[in-house]
Amino acid sequence: MSKLILQNSLTRAKEIFIPADPTHQQVKMYVCGPTVYNYAHIGNARAAVVFDMLRRVLQHLYPKVTHVANITDIDDKIIEAANKQGVPIADITEKYAAIYNADMGSLGVLTPTIQPKATDHVEGMIAMINDLIDKGHAYEKEGHVLFYVPSYPEYGVLSGRNRDEQIAGARVEIAPYKKDPADFVLWKPSGKSQPGWDSPWGYGRPGWHIECSVMARQYLGDVFDIHGGGLDLTFPHHENEIAQSCCATGCDKFANMWIHNGFVTVEGEKMSKSLGNVILVHDMIEDGIPGEAIRLALLSTHYRQPFDWTEKGLQQAVKTLDKWYDCLPHDEENNGMGETQIDDEFLSALCDDLNTPLAISILHKLAKNDPAKLRAAANILGFLQTPADSWRALRKKTHHTINDADIDVLVSKRNQARADKNFAEADHIRDHLASLGVVIKDGPDGTSWTYE
Ligand SMILES: [Zn+2]
Repeated sequence: MSKLILQNSLTRAKEIFIPADPTHQQVKMYVCGPTVYNYAHIGNARAAVVFDMLRRVLQHLYPKVTHVANITDIDDKIIEAANKQGVPIADITEKYAAIYNADMGSLGVLTPTIQPKATDHVEGMIAMINDLIDKGHAYEKEGHVLFYVPSYPEYGVLSGRNRDEQIAGARVEIAPYKKDPADFVLWKPSGKSQPGWDSPWGYGRPGWHIECSVMARQYLGDVFDIHGGGLDLTFPHHENEIAQSCCATGCDKFANMWIHNGFVTVEGEKMSKSLGNVILVHDMIEDGIPGEAIRLALLSTHYRQPFDWTEKGLQQAVKTLDKWYDCLPHDEENNGMGETQIDDEFLSALCDDLNTPLAISILHKLAKNDPAKLRAAANILGFLQTPADSWRALRKKTHHTINDADIDVLVSKRNQARADKNFAEADHIRDHLASLGVVIKDGPDGTSWTYE
């Protein structure tokens, strides 16, 4: 079996991946999921696609992969959005969780094995917070429960931040209820009109970090193989997850390997609402851009590198997929290429810290001389997922810049031109339609048209 080597953010080194499961047959991975109150942008999509790619590689190498990715459905931003619209938070979270899953599905992202929601695990969060208080790692003050950072000397192990940087990075005003400026919230009080749960510390709601510690432990155990997320989550979120989990379980580790994907910019600039350059996956899919092309554009940069989203890169990805699909036979169901071995060079590239740029360059080589190997290898990365004929038909449809009603109008004009014996005009209209992929057929029952 090929050895998978991954860059572990925790040790800052490339390591051979070995599943903790004693039989080494099962892999357990947790990835921080979305906070669901608006549409997913290309930065959210990058994390989802990168960890889906890792999952697919793991599935190729191991018989069983459990991929847990949570849905954060309680958060101040969600409450704010619900208040603005005058609806319960569930209206917002259910809507955007469904949209998120549909949009990521368009990008070929497999549904996580388990996709737990924070609001379904509040009881577990209360239990873990209680445990942390009992063990002297957390304290209650003014309806808040805070994690006491000085109680955990290893704090900062993941991010490498020293104490001054931790305090600056916590970006929280000095609250009177904090014993130490680096302390972070596990539980906070809710107003009567705010969503909340009864707890030993009064009516309130959990802080964000505790949900991941609780859900990861419930579904994957005290220590599991891989924890993933965007680089921006390293501090404070992941640092806090480690502190909570290690203090609750008594283990010296939470996840054995931490994998982070790099930042995303758009056409060389930071993506921000104020710049008006936030790229939403939903918009692109609605515009008929194939999800596989978005996926290919995202994976064309190594996952740890910063990724710059460009229109040019997207168009290049579309062209590449057109080319790859063109290598595949027509009517594949009947001209099936059967099972085939995965190209060694391709697999080695992926096993070397998921080197997708190299793997994609090998797909280009395979496209030239071995369609069966191309498809088999591409499938591991989540490409060439549709029959080639469907892809070609879909691409033709999206190529059309004319709608059916306009075609009907042109066909009538052409019929009139023919009736008037203006054959030059009739031919001109026919050629124009042909350039748009519309074929005209003149028969005994009149003129009909079809897409090429
Ligand atoms: Zn998390």
